[in-house]
Amino acid sequence: MRTVRALQRLRGVLSQSFSSSSAEKPMPGNSMLRHLTSKIKATGPISVAEYMREVLTNPVMGYYVQNDMLGPDGDFITSPEISQIFGELLGIWCLSEWMGAGKPSRFQLVEFGPGRGSLANDILRVFSQLRGALGGAAVSVHLVEVSPKLSQVQAQFLTGDQSQVSASEDEPVYRQGTTTTGLPISWYRNLDDVPRGFSIYLAHEFFDALPIHKFQGTEKGWREVMVDIDPDEPGKLRLVIVPAPTLASTQLIQADEKRRHVEVCPEGGVIVQRLANRITEDGGAALIADYGHDGTKMDTFRGFKGHKLHDVLASPGSADLTADVDYSYLRRMAGATVACMGPVSQKDFLKNMGIDTRLQVLLRNCADPSTRAQLIQGYDMLTNPLKMGERFQFFTMLNHTPLPVAGFSELGLS
Ligand code: SAH
Repeated sequence: MRTVRALQRLRGVLSQSFSSSSAEKPMPGNSMLRHLTSKIKATGPISVAEYMREVLTNPVMGYYVQNDMLGPDGDFITSPEISQIFGELLGIWCLSEWMGAGKPSRFQLVEFGPGRGSLANDILRVFSQLRGALGGAAVSVHLVEVSPKLSQVQAQFLTGDQSQVSASEDEPVYRQGTTTTGLPISWYRNLDDVPRGFSIYLAHEFFDALPIHKFQGTEKGWREVMVDIDPDEPGKLRLVIVPAPTLASTQLIQADEKRRHVEVCPEGGVIVQRLANRITEDGGAALIADYGHDGTKMDTFRGFKGHKLHDVLASPGSADLTADVDYSYLRRMAGATVACMGPVSQKDFLKNMGIDTRLQVLLRNCADPSTRAQLIQGYDMLTNPLKMGERFQFFTMLNHTPLPVAGFSELGLS
């Protein structure tokens, strides 16, 4: 995840103003470490996927469950948090896909892992401004979010106080309300709970947070890399290559794999399969934006804390964990019933969507020098190839022959 990470890796250190207060944050690392070591003592080394799942989404101690990790005081910052233009252009993309599908009378906007809700907020503002274009369509908003803490932040931002938590914790819809723009909005933990129907699905910096398995090619064949207790320092964890094949190492590697080290995210694959199925049957499209590669990279598993790289095994639960999205794997899992396009770079996608024109319009209407500087800086951050322009990529799944698709060709919205 984590926009500014792109910068970090390329330039080393992020600007001073970002590297602040992670030292003051609660450190759930010790109880998480105890939980993980007792698990490993009981059943042996755990997969990196299990490690990531526990660290990030354990219902009590998980990093996402405990933290609001976004923004200058958090561990990373993302495109929607950097510039309103990002969400506005994605809003236009959603509308253009809905129009391309013949303006169905029901239109669900579904977002995975909405963070603070900034992307949804900017999209809903576009929907509100272009209400005329939406005609009488019944638009509804559906958020798939595992973190109770972040869902609260999203609800406050998107509805004011117009949302209620469900009576029982087991309800598939755990929160419901009305957005400040007057649309029904609901929260779920899983895609399976989101109602069927024509939908535009968005996932920004979501797939990179899903658990990966790691594999190493050895003389004896593929072996899984797992997390074990360091025998020299029992309070520390280490990565080991397990000697015997595991179910994952026998099932998840492609027969013609050329790399010596591979990361596979089966949970991401399952979500993409389900999305493909829904899009084929109900209509709609999915837009996945993340940092990733097309089946070329090997070791991308990283930790981030206070906008700095952090050892993935050190004080688990106190830092974000992430791995680049393998778009070649997602494309394979999507299957043949949907059309896939991309990945295209964020720079190309946003330029195809008209970011230059949008920036000019905003600048023309803005006299305040500091806001103008912010707009220009945000534009640069999003599109500059040395910042987020190249490293972040867009990928789409559609239920029609994709010519032309906004953002993925120079034709833009025509
Ligand atoms: N899309 C936002 C936030 C990215 S952070 C942005 O770009 O700013 C990742 C988000 O995904 C968080 O909201 C986190 O709580 C959520 N998340 C992580 N794992 C999840 C899972 N397995 N199911 C649902 N949401 C998840």
